[in-house]
Amino acid sequence: MEQHRRTATCGELRGTDAGRSVTLNGWVHRNRDHGGVHFINLRDRYGVTQVVIDDDAPKELAAIAASLKFEYVIAVEGVVRNRPADMVNDQMPTGQVEIAATAVHVLTASETLPFMIDDKSDAREELRLKHRYLDLRSFSMQRKIRLRHDVSYRIREYLNGQGFLEIETPTLIRSTPEGARDFLVPSRIQRGSFYALPQSPQLYKQILMVSGFDRYFQIAHCFRDEDARGDRQPEHTQIDIEMSFVGKDDVFALIEAMLTHVFDTTLGKSLSTPFPRIAYDDAMDRYGSDKPDLRFELPIQDFAPYVAGSEFKVFASTLDSGGSVKALVVAGSADYSRKQITDLEEVAKTYGAKGLAWMKVTPDGLDGGIAKFFTDRSDAICAGLGAKPGDLILFVADTWKTACTALGAVRSRIGRDQELFDPSDFRFAWIIDFPLFEWNDDEQRWEASHHMFTMPQERFIDSMESDPGAVKGDLYDLVCNGVELASGSIRIHDPAIQRRIFSIVGFPEEEAQQRFGFLLEAFRYGAPPHGGIAPGLDRLVMLMAGESTIREVIAFPKNTVGVNPMDESPAAVDPAQLAELGIAIVDDQR
Ligand code: ASP
Repeated sequence: MEQHRRTATCGELRGTDAGRSVTLNGWVHRNRDHGGVHFINLRDRYGVTQVVIDDDAPKELAAIAASLKFEYVIAVEGVVRNRPADMVNDQMPTGQVEIAATAVHVLTASETLPFMIDDKSDAREELRLKHRYLDLRSFSMQRKIRLRHDVSYRIREYLNGQGFLEIETPTLIRSTPEGARDFLVPSRIQRGSFYALPQSPQLYKQILMVSGFDRYFQIAHCFRDEDARGDRQPEHTQIDIEMSFVGKDDVFALIEAMLTHVFDTTLGKSLSTPFPRIAYDDAMDRYGSDKPDLRFELPIQDFAPYVAGSEFKVFASTLDSGGSVKALVVAGSADYSRKQITDLEEVAKTYGAKGLAWMKVTPDGLDGGIAKFFTDRSDAICAGLGAKPGDLILFVADTWKTACTALGAVRSRIGRDQELFDPSDFRFAWIIDFPLFEWNDDEQRWEASHHMFTMPQERFIDSMESDPGAVKGDLYDLVCNGVELASGSIRIHDPAIQRRIFSIVGFPEEEAQQRFGFLLEAFRYGAPPHGGIAPGLDRLVMLMAGESTIREVIAFPKNTVGVNPMDESPAAVDPAQLAELGIAIVDDQR
């Protein structure tokens, strides 16, 4: 490479460089032959520069130019010149100039590509992932990977400025109780024993607090063996943070300032802080989700006040059995067809609703669907719900949670279908006052809704055992545009409270000792009050890049079934490797 090493990148030359002799290195992005004149678009990470081989070029040069195919790696020697006025391309940063080539060297050839390297690739995602090295060459992927780098860099810059230390915690650990399944790694030396890959550095960061590192962070890889669904990856990256001697207000202020710095320095966007705080119950009631998209309003409303005395028995009996009837007024949508309403009903059903009732508001009152049961009170309904002629009203009657969640999903769908929001907007909020425990119906027991180390709110400490369902935790989520961006909590540092939590969730003391006795032991030697949070880096960058899947912002992601089509992991291993570990695979036909 000594010989043909570049003296400029493909993104830097401007009109002021005219007359310079340069060498460029890069990939052949396009090669057009216009009646004997070759126009080669040469591409590297920094941009594209037009190279011209004039029609009076020496034969050998013209022959090389004609032989160049997509993605050949070449070195071009030549002179920078201004393009003729009618050929200037304002869309390209280098569009003022071109290189009049005096020599072209092929450094490596390329086989025929499985897909074109284009900004908007229409190749199937599976093919893009199989040839990720090609996919990553596109400017759109390069921009996203660059953004990810910039975001990590700005996070480190900010936290370092605030006195945080980045401390690595181990990847081979004892299993962490975060609620998901662990990935296990067999030990060869301690045959029959296993490490777990961390679901998060949770226990280690808490121990670092005991050690006095009162401001810790780590951009940490986390591993969770969950069923592949939606946008999950078996491994993801968290901005893991823990602080001592803090309350949730301190955590919120830190994260708000950190994100303000990141958005300002990477996207040039200013965020308005403090982010609103919404209690979990209110978020569910109003938006039907604990990660509401606040870029549009479309609130869910309570329909219970209009049910008494109506002939529509489904609503009345739902209320009698302690359930809820929720309504969504969709402005100007009375023209929705049956088909459109059925589609929305399918959405509601996916979230557990038995159906989606509806009525329309016309200038003459309520009409269609279940309207006939409510005509006697149409004025009160319209006034109460703020419904106007031309509006569509949708209903779900079920348990409170199902009614809210199902209608919340319908709300999101309508928001998307009707483009009720500005996609470039970022609407953050803190969701607070989560229940500390959730009832697991299958196992007929209470379980921690976040993890077992979360502090109950002070006012519930005395009544934890008598009414677990009512206990709110000192735990919080950060949400943005309908995405859960972070979870965190103030932790338990008092061994007595920790023991009570274990007993409420039916976690045997013995098992606690066995699995994380080291944390409980550490707490016996002066644990400071502490708390933390862990924003997901993948999701943050995904939102910032305007993407809807984290695969778009991970260099080498797995596909939707947890496979990396490029290296084809996971894969079978050599039987000798298994023998060494003392492991045998039992074929169970699955
Ligand atoms: N370890 C938690 C999680 O991964 C985050 C935290 O509580 O800091 O969700």
